[in-house]
Amino acid sequence: MKTDESELGAVRSRSQGEPQHGTVALPHAGRFFEVRFESIGGLGAHAAGQVLATAAVIRMGLNGAHFSSYGSEKKGSLVRSFVRLGPTDRPIRTSAPVETPDAIVVFHAALLRNPATLAGLLKDGTFIYNAPPGPVPVELAALPRTARVIRVDALGIALQENSRPNAVLLGTLAGAFPFLDSDQILEALSEEFAGRHPEAVASNERAFRRGATDFEKLEGVGRAEGDLPVARTEPAWGYETQPVGGIIPEPGNMMWNDLSASRTGWLPVLDREKCIHCGLCDLVCPDYCLTWGDGEDGGKFERELMGVDYRYCKGCLRCVESCPTGALTKETETAGLADRLRVPLFPDLIP
Ligand code: SF4
Ligand code: SF4
Repeated sequence: MKTDESELGAVRSRSQGEPQHGTVALPHAGRFFEVRFESIGGLGAHAAGQVLATAAVIRMGLNGAHFSSYGSEKKGSLVRSFVRLGPTDRPIRTSAPVETPDAIVVFHAALLRNPATLAGLLKDGTFIYNAPPGPVPVELAALPRTARVIRVDALGIALQENSRPNAVLLGTLAGAFPFLDSDQILEALSEEFAGRHPEAVASNERAFRRGATDFEKLEGVGRAEGDLPVARTEPAWGYETQPVGGIIPEPGNMMWNDLSASRTGWLPVLDREKCIHCGLCDLVCPDYCLTWGDGEDGGKFERELMGVDYRYCKGCLRCVESCPTGALTKETETAGLADRLRVPLFPDLIP
């Protein structure tokens, strides 16, 4: 993992030379207000953190710091973006990752499967996640009982408003914490896009404003008592604890790879009634996700397409584009859909 602190420097230096538009009081006098955006590459978490910190420092009269940590810097890899806000008389002298956040904002529901996504949330913290209405994922029972849990259909709103989920989620964060001045964050968001994408300013504003109001507060979700523990980063097996001879607990090969967190909201869904088993989808799929089986005895096809193993599918939709019969369609990924429709490629190993 590497960190990018360039934005931190940028935000701080701008705060010294430009007028501040006002000051606001933070919710807790004795500590920084800390936010952790949990995301994957391509969803705009880094930009969201940058906009929030810029608005806080330049427009709200706060001290602020922001940086992001990346995996391999490619679309679909894990991204965490950290924002710390403090009063003007308290300098922020740390750029360590936010481990005990007041708010966690999750850009993609697939990240809920990773316990590290929830780690460190304070018992009076706020957990915001992007998902359409529906059953609450069981993983969220691990949240503190006293934490606030908020769900917003950021992808759905972004699609309707021709915007992106990060604009919606920033709006939800501002709606959940009224001390964050929505108008000032929106100004900072518009400035971010005014030069490069002026056509996006109006759609981002609509998405942001809907994010600030069109969210659900979920009751009775968390079961844990107190603050959540901080994520442990040390490996389960180390120099002193590994069995004699050493082991590789998670071999990094194609079979064990799980690309499901790489999807940005869409899945290819197969209608077998329309499929002519031509194999074009298989030819274009970069990740060998399509599961084939023997055709019926005496049937027309020797091999038939059975479905998709979504464990390996990153949602690029090349298969949908190449399908000549419309048997594969692009569908919004809702909670549990991939698990329900998945046809395993290696059922004996990864059922
Ligand atoms: S391209 Fe379409 S019709 Fe051909 S095998 Fe794939 S899903 Fe079936
Ligand atoms: S969307 Fe289709 S082509 Fe792309 S990875 Fe998934 S199955 Fe393969």
